[in-house]
Amino acid sequence: MSDMRIGIAGAGLVGRLLAWRLLRAGHTVTLIDQDDGSGQHAAAYIAAAMLAPYSEAVGTGHALLAPGLQAIALWRRWLQELQRDSGHDVPWQQRGSVVVAHPLDRGELLWFQERLAALTHGAADTCQTLDRAALLSLESELCAFDAGLYLPHEGCLDNRALFSALAQAITLGGGHWLKGRNIIEVSQGRITTTHDSHDFSLALDCRGLGAKAQVKGLRGVRGELLWLHAPEVNLSRPVRLMHPRYQLYIAPRPAAVYVIGATEIESDSMAPITVRSELELLSALYSVHGGFSEASVLEARSHCRPAFADNLPQLIATPGLVQVNGLYRHGYLLGPLMVESVLALLAGRAVLPPIGLHGYL
Ligand SMILES: Cc1cc2nc3c(=O)[nH]c(=O)nc-3n(C[C@H](O)[C@H](O)[C@H](O)COP(=O)(O)OP(=O)(O)OC[C@H]3O[C@@H](n4cnc5c(N)ncnc54)[C@H](O)[C@@H]3O)c2cc1C
Repeated sequence: MSDMRIGIAGAGLVGRLLAWRLLRAGHTVTLIDQDDGSGQHAAAYIAAAMLAPYSEAVGTGHALLAPGLQAIALWRRWLQELQRDSGHDVPWQQRGSVVVAHPLDRGELLWFQERLAALTHGAADTCQTLDRAALLSLESELCAFDAGLYLPHEGCLDNRALFSALAQAITLGGGHWLKGRNIIEVSQGRITTTHDSHDFSLALDCRGLGAKAQVKGLRGVRGELLWLHAPEVNLSRPVRLMHPRYQLYIAPRPAAVYVIGATEIESDSMAPITVRSELELLSALYSVHGGFSEASVLEARSHCRPAFADNLPQLIATPGLVQVNGLYRHGYLLGPLMVESVLALLAGRAVLPPIGLHGYL
C-alpha cells in the first residue's frame, strides 16, 4: 500500500476513525462534512456508545460475539494511542454491564439468559446470575430489583470526548478538514459538494444514512434517546431494563450525565423525538431509579442507524471508491474492525468478520 491521497466523505464515527488511522499509516487525508467539525449531525454523536457484544448478540446473533471482544481490545490500545496523538483523555470502561427486570417481568430476564447461554454454549464467564445482595454489591442503588445478570466483559465509552480527541488528532496529524460542505455525490476518486468538487486517488464514502441514495439496500432504523444530568443517581455501569414493551438502557457518562435509550423504529425519519417515546423512556427510567425524577433533560435527540438487511456492516469496493456503511446499532462495538478492514483492503489482505466485502479495489 503506497501513500495515497484519500478523500473521506462524512466525519462521523467511521470517517473520523479512518482519517486518524490513515494519517498514522502515512496517507494524505481530506475529511469533508456538512457540519462545523463538532460531529453534531452524526448518529454517533448522540449514541450511547455502549460496547456490549453479549447484550447485542441476544438480538443480532452470535456473529457479534468474538468480533465485539476483538474490537474492545482494539479500543483499549487505540484510546492510549489517541491520548498520545491528541493530548485528550477519552473516558471509557470495561467493568461489565448489568441487566435487570422487575419481578413481574422475570420471564424477560430468563429469556435473555437462556438466549445468551445458547449463543455462548453456556460459557461460565460470560454471564453471572445475581441475587439481590450480589446485585446491590455491584450497583448499590438498584434496590427496586431482587435479581439481575452481570455481563463482565461489556463496557462503554464517552463518545463526545472521543469525537473531540479524534478531531484534535486529525488536525495535529496534518489532515485537511473541509467543514460546512453538503456532499451531493461520492464517485470513483471524486467527492462533489454543492460548493465544489475534489479529486483523490481513493474516495471513502462514510456518510452513514446520508449515503442512502447511493448505497443499494441501505435503510434507516430510527432511534430516540435522552441525555440527562442526574446528580441524585450514582450508577457506575451500563444498565439494561428488560421489559415486555420498552427497550431501556442507561449508559453513564462522567459528571452525573446519563444517556437513556433507545427506541428502535423501522423508519428513516429524522424528525424530533415524539412525546410517546419520551414518555415511555422516562416512565421506564423512573421505575429503575426514583432519583431520576429530579434529573434535568439536557437533550432529547433522534437519529437513524444505517443498516443493511442482515444488520451487519459492509464494504462495497470499486476502483477508486469504497463505501463503508451499515454499522446499525454497532458503530462503537464494531467500528475498529471496520477501520482495520478498510486498511486490510488497501493492503490487499482479507477483511475481518463480520464485515462483508463486495467488489474489489
Ligand atoms: C439512538 C442511537 C443509539 C446508538 N447507540 C449505540 C451504542 O450504544 N453502541 C454502538 O456501538 N452503536 C450505537 N449506535 C450506532 C452508531 O451510532 C452508528 O452505527 C454509527 O454512528 C455509524 O457511524 P457512521 O460513521 O457510519 O455514521 P454517522 O455517525 O451517522 O456519521 C455520518 C457522517 O456523515 C455526515 N454526512 C451525512 N450526509 C452528508 C452529506 N450529504 N454531506 C456532508 N456530510 C454528510 C454526517 O454529518 C456525519 O458526520 C447508536 C445509534 C443511535 C441512532
